Amino acid sequence: MKPAPFTYHDPTTADEAVALLATHEDAKILAGGQSLMPMLNMRFVVPDDVIDLNRIDGIAGIRDAGESIEIGAMTRQRDLMRDDVIATKAPIIPAALHWVGHFQTRNRGTIGGSLCHLDPAAELPCLMALYDAELTVQGPDGARKIPFAEWPLAYMIPSIGPDELLTGVSVPHWGGNTGHGFVEFSRRHGDFAIVAAAALLTVDAGKITRAAISIGGADVRPIRLTEAETALVGATPDAGTFKAAAEIARGIEAMSDAYVSSAYRQRLAATLVERALAAAASNLNGSA
Ligand SMILES: Cc1cc2nc3c(=O)[nH]c(=O)nc-3n(C[C@H](O)[C@H](O)[C@H](O)COP(=O)(O)OP(=O)(O)OC[C@H]3O[C@@H](n4cnc5c(N)ncnc54)[C@H](O)[C@@H]3O)c2cc1C
Repeated sequence: MKPAPFTYHDPTTADEAVALLATHEDAKILAGGQSLMPMLNMRFVVPDDVIDLNRIDGIAGIRDAGESIEIGAMTRQRDLMRDDVIATKAPIIPAALHWVGHFQTRNRGTIGGSLCHLDPAAELPCLMALYDAELTVQGPDGARKIPFAEWPLAYMIPSIGPDELLTGVSVPHWGGNTGHGFVEFSRRHGDFAIVAAAALLTVDAGKITRAAISIGGADVRPIRLTEAETALVGATPDAGTFKAAAEIARGIEAMSDAYVSSAYRQRLAATLVERALAAAASNLNGSA
């Protein structure tokens, strides 16, 4: 199938892209095209204008800012998997990206595209929830920051205006003796997860001092398991502790669809949270 006709724009700066968004009411942004192109081809979206971000240099790249890692929205998923700063300071990102699509899709697909597309089962939104990442969007009135918790408004709807552009993401660095775990279950490798679980654990003197758990695919937005995170702090990182956290995951609100019931998603969430925590405890290495 072919897309319906549209006018193509290829701005070279973010300001130019924002100006185009302001003057073209029915425009769609094109990043890596791995979700947008199929939607155009199947005519699920029929925009009058397509604004291609691929010639804008300023919104791609990875920068170590000490307390955080600053990632441009147009950074390819493949580059995130190869970057030394990410590998050292947020190794859960490349670990999770192994589950995202295929080489070909990761070569083109961007972090910003995934966060804006906001598929409930996508791995990158699940990680941004885990880190409480902060997103920067640019619009006609300038830039504004949005905590990830406020990013998903509803099913595949992020809190970005039609005249705004996502320009970057700030991922805080945990530091300390931190480990990470990411696991998911999908029907075939490369498919979106039915359920995914991500965990970060910091351990000091044999006790957990900080924990974050995020579950993807279970609901329209990633779920932070805050009750379990609180219960983990002060506990010993062992199998019994992780099983108790998993029981909390079994009680999450989960959606059902034509293939998978909510009860199945809850069971998966419990199993995967336990595994993600065990994986995190097994690779404590002083940074995550
Ligand atoms: C075969 C296949 C398998 C896949 N498997 C997975 C998987 O397992 N897990 C997974 O997470 N994803 C998967 N994907 C999707 C892939 O990760 C996409 O790269 C991602 O969803 C969209 O990123 P993109 O850069 O290609 O964005 P595009 O497709 O270009 O854009 C996606 C949406 O975001 C908007 N957008 C993009 N960038 C911006 C921006 N900076 N500001 C505002 N709006 C913006 C676009 O207008 C569009 O609505 C798969 C894709 C394919 C084709």
